Amino acid sequence: MKKQWIEKRLEDLKVCPHLIDYEKTYKEFQWKEVASQFEGLPSGGLNIAHEAIDRHANGPLAQKTALVWLGEDGQRREFTFEQMKKESARFANVLHSLGLSKGDRVFTLSTRLPELYIAVMGIFKNRSVLCPLFSQFGPEPILQRMVRGDAKALLTTKSLFEKKVRPLLDRLPQLEAVLLIDAQEDESDKVRSLACLMEKSSDVFEIPPTGPEDMSILHFTSGTTGMPKGVVHVHKAIYMHWMSGKYVLDFHPDDIFWCTADPGWVTGTSYGIIAPWLHGITNVVDEAEFDAQRWYRILQNEKVSIWYTAPTAIRRLMRLDFDPLKEYDLSKLRLIQSVGEPLNPEAVVWGMEKLKLPIHDNWWQTETGGIMIANLISQPIFPGSMGRPLPGIEAAVVHKNDDGSVNEITELCKEGELALKPGWPSMFRTYLHDEERYAKCFVGGWYLTGDLAYKDKEGYFWFVGRADDIIKTSGHMVGPFEVESVLMEHPSVAEAGVIGKSDPVAGQVVKAFVSLKEGYEPSEELRRELIGFGRKKLGVAIAPKEIEFEINLPKTRSGKIMRRLLKAREMGLPEGDISTLEA
Ligand code: AMP
Repeated sequence: MKKQWIEKRLEDLKVCPHLIDYEKTYKEFQWKEVASQFEGLPSGGLNIAHEAIDRHANGPLAQKTALVWLGEDGQRREFTFEQMKKESARFANVLHSLGLSKGDRVFTLSTRLPELYIAVMGIFKNRSVLCPLFSQFGPEPILQRMVRGDAKALLTTKSLFEKKVRPLLDRLPQLEAVLLIDAQEDESDKVRSLACLMEKSSDVFEIPPTGPEDMSILHFTSGTTGMPKGVVHVHKAIYMHWMSGKYVLDFHPDDIFWCTADPGWVTGTSYGIIAPWLHGITNVVDEAEFDAQRWYRILQNEKVSIWYTAPTAIRRLMRLDFDPLKEYDLSKLRLIQSVGEPLNPEAVVWGMEKLKLPIHDNWWQTETGGIMIANLISQPIFPGSMGRPLPGIEAAVVHKNDDGSVNEITELCKEGELALKPGWPSMFRTYLHDEERYAKCFVGGWYLTGDLAYKDKEGYFWFVGRADDIIKTSGHMVGPFEVESVLMEHPSVAEAGVIGKSDPVAGQVVKAFVSLKEGYEPSEELRRELIGFGRKKLGVAIAPKEIEFEINLPKTRSGKIMRRLLKAREMGLPEGDISTLEA
């Protein structure tokens, strides 16, 4: 079966020799092979923007299309590597002229516009730190992240600024500059028109010496107990991006790649921007939100050969009762990869039936910076499994002992916490301002991922769930604490417990259980008001979709709301250990 599969895949795909024999590649792999792929800065060191853009612009790929941008309104624009080099140089000069330099945090809050992609490279060139926000966040998550991340500048659009940021300015005293992508003129010394600044700036920028360990990106991710954590990444992470671009995404020079993730999340930066350009590949970006017919049209019209998407989107495509291959010419599409949440086995089968391609699941997280476990294209897929560790990555399932130590579980198919041997190049370097929390992630020589998994006899890893209360909705991570804190700002709310409720399409939806203060009665009107309150403060991506009133929320004797129990009750599952439940 395995041999047949591989032979068939080799026929279908432009498979590289390194992908054929997993065991051999895994054994022989060396990071120094990856190091030799980079040019290095003329001034010394390693800078993402030089490796992703400038070195191509300085060579034979100068006139190759780096970015194909598809506007929501039907516009289509192309940018060559040379144009990207010049435009990102302008942006770097803008930052420099505003007094922003190495290590300064530049936040982005924008829909997927070309200026965002140009700015990302300009930020790297200036050695400032890219801090992406998701444009669907409401003011509260934006404020939390900008304060924690010491925001000095923000790139955004006029409407996002008006709706979400202007009311926060008093609480962001460190913020020195707001760059409005679509403003025709400056509003003040602080709120500036990007176009005016770009026009005045030179399109030449010499990247100063950059250390491989210099901070490049600060992504925020959610925790169970506290507010979002700032995950620090460095320029050297491109080793992992380049390597996974080759081994997992199988980039070849003439590929056209489309990653549907938004750069507000880590997949949208690592793979929606950096990895394809490290390989000099044409990268497609769509401004619009999910629309099945539009997506199939993009795959067809842009001749996408490699498509990186997410289970929620695939499940939405699966719901449509039609045959994509009859309506669209998807003959150029040769590889589909998926990440972010569990990919149900039916989706893999659906891919085989409807698109004549399997969907390859892979696993990683904000902290890992790049793909860690994957179904490589030449290897058999066991639908439902995340695949095997990439070369250079050691993964295991571990058991946490009562004394806090961990043991590797060698027994096959036994569930435990998924762990990785630290030291891969894109590993996060710390949680900003929270070394203690960072240190806690590493036990007994392993990085503990917070995910539960098991490993089978073929060495494939299977996802079981989270070890904590973190919610994944439509592939986006939501921390229940952040949602609970906002709900409790409403005058009627005494307490709130937030969980992820299973959903056939979104994986999970955010559901809040709320107990009311004296003087308030549950009603449909109040429920609607609380949903609206959540949306306004948190934004649609995070706000609870459902609210249920409870007189008493289950709590431990020490007063902590037992989200686990709320979830078990919601799903009709056994309640487990309730010995700590408050009487
Ligand atoms: P994030 O840091 O937002 O990228 O989320 C990372 C988390 O998403 C992981 O820790 C998992 O819980 C989940 N996740 C990512 N990829 C997969 C996958 N292929 N299967 C199941 N869960 C996944």
